[in-house]
Amino acid sequence: MADIIKLLPDHVANQIAAGEVVQRPASVVKELLENAIDANASLIKLIIKDGGKALIQVVDNGKGMSETDARLSFERHATSKISDAKDLFNLKTKGFRGEALASIAAIAHVDMQTKTEDSDVGTYLKIEGSQVVAQEPIATPTGTSIAVKNLFFNIPARRNFLKSNQVELRHITDEFHRVALVHPSIEFHFYNNGSEVFNLPQVNHRQRINHVFGSKMENRLVPVNEETEVVKISGFICKPEFAKKSRGEQFFFANNRFIKSPYLHHSVIAAFEGLIKSDVYPGYFLYLDVDPSCIDINIHPTKTEVKFDDENTMYAILRSTIKHSLGQFNIAPVLDFEHDPNLDTPYAYKGRGVVLPKVTVDAAFNPFAKTGEQSVKSHTYQKVSAKGWENLYKDLDTGASTDNFSSVEIESDVLLQGTFYSEEDVEEHTSTTFQLRRKYIVSTIKSGMLVINQNRAHERILFEKFLTEITVKEGISQQLLFPLELSFSKQELVTLNELKDSLGNIGFAFENLEQETVKVTGVPLILSESRIGTVLDRLIADYREGYSESTISQAEVLARALSKNLAVKTGELLNQESQLALVNDLFGCKEPSLSPFQKMTYTIISERDIEKKLS
Ligand code: ADP
Ligand code: MG
Repeated sequence: MADIIKLLPDHVANQIAAGEVVQRPASVVKELLENAIDANASLIKLIIKDGGKALIQVVDNGKGMSETDARLSFERHATSKISDAKDLFNLKTKGFRGEALASIAAIAHVDMQTKTEDSDVGTYLKIEGSQVVAQEPIATPTGTSIAVKNLFFNIPARRNFLKSNQVELRHITDEFHRVALVHPSIEFHFYNNGSEVFNLPQVNHRQRINHVFGSKMENRLVPVNEETEVVKISGFICKPEFAKKSRGEQFFFANNRFIKSPYLHHSVIAAFEGLIKSDVYPGYFLYLDVDPSCIDINIHPTKTEVKFDDENTMYAILRSTIKHSLGQFNIAPVLDFEHDPNLDTPYAYKGRGVVLPKVTVDAAFNPFAKTGEQSVKSHTYQKVSAKGWENLYKDLDTGASTDNFSSVEIESDVLLQGTFYSEEDVEEHTSTTFQLRRKYIVSTIKSGMLVINQNRAHERILFEKFLTEITVKEGISQQLLFPLELSFSKQELVTLNELKDSLGNIGFAFENLEQETVKVTGVPLILSESRIGTVLDRLIADYREGYSESTISQAEVLARALSKNLAVKTGELLNQESQLALVNDLFGCKEPSLSPFQKMTYTIISERDIEKKLS
């Protein structure tokens, strides 16, 4: 038999390697920025067009390359950074595999201009899909400029797999942050589609964090410093009260390289124990310095996952260091998680006469609630459900309080399988609801007992309401008498701009959306002024998290995030009217049985179940 094994031609091998190195435009950005840093640049420009699909260019003033090196740099396993296997255990540079440029050139059109300090002319190289199509001398400043165009031009499947320009830009921005945060002594400029998004002068670490994430960071940071034999830790943690729902502002750097470490992340969380709620994450920017021989960065091709020799010790040191900083800077626990209901203005009712619904209910029926608090808290629900409420009043006024429920039956009888309110049932039922453990709304129905999870039910109601508003643009806006000025980071601004039309549809109005300080001039009726800032922050975070992961529409992701942040929570007291309105609105929904997060909103405990238990 003839020999059948063939060596793959280089350009094919390069394309295969490219699959590992280049997942998306952001991967190219990372490699090019790292090369510029390894070349000792003090000024780096990043230029992006169309989410990096049309152009990714990095210009540096580093040491540049000779003509031969320029040509060699695109060969696979060409690296100036290690020459011996043992160098692998003592890495001080970012690159070492020597496959980034070869991989990039295999799947894109690349233009390079480079010149070293000691030569008068530079080299221009043009490569398309691994083929050198032009090489000539060129007059160019010392340093290197590499422009990567038409990424994946020869792999349509990969190109089609890329997300929208906005999403790709977000990934690029993430990479940019990771590099910029660890090199404050390098000046960075970042241009997107012709406009400058970041201009970061040479500063110290703290100022760099402020420049990247906005001046609001300034008073949030607490320094962390510790030096032990195993590790030197420096950097900052954010005060507990600024912990966020998003995982965006958590950074570990090991020997000046961004790393991901769920294990060390856990140790930071452990240090914050008791100071923050379990569903929020503290921000941190932690720089770890370890002996390069005690850390293995080579276990993952994109080199963000690392392995430390002595992880347990690292965990313990990190945790106690952060605890110490938290204590030293006198950060009192902020345990006031309940917002002050007195600050809530029920806009829907502002300037309206008080209309007391005639609900024939004995308030004492509720064995779990203190009546005093009830009426205050009830605003939380009242204001969010103006429409449902008007219906409720109408029905009650005409004495036809049963209409809601019978119409409910028609709309949702498939889901309720006929077990729900019958005429007769409702008659005997006249609004006997009560709240159980500030978590459930309990009501009697003919077949037994209906138990509704108040938070999930309200999420469902709000989700459908917002989804409609976003798509049909009918949201009512409450103009703010005094526009509110809020500051956002550049990245948050990108998301906010992405969402501005949808947010406009539900009643938000903004001015100055291009600047760090945005003016909020209008908000949806249901949002109280005191919560605007928090809600927008969380909305952006939830949206970013939800959107990059899922394939559902922007409107749906946004409606979900809104419902999550504005729904009545577990622990909130609801008065009788609010409880009724909640039941009413829930069964007016298209899909009452599930929350937007696919959790059950209610259950029915049948009379038979009860009898069984009592037999
Ligand atoms: P690695 O960074 O792993 O060595 P790359 O493919 O990224 O591999 O780069 C190959 C070589 O090209 C580098 O080792 C370096 O010598 C040279 N090089 C790449 N980019 C630059 C740059 N911006 N300035 C100077 N030299 C560079
Ligand atoms: Mg490299």
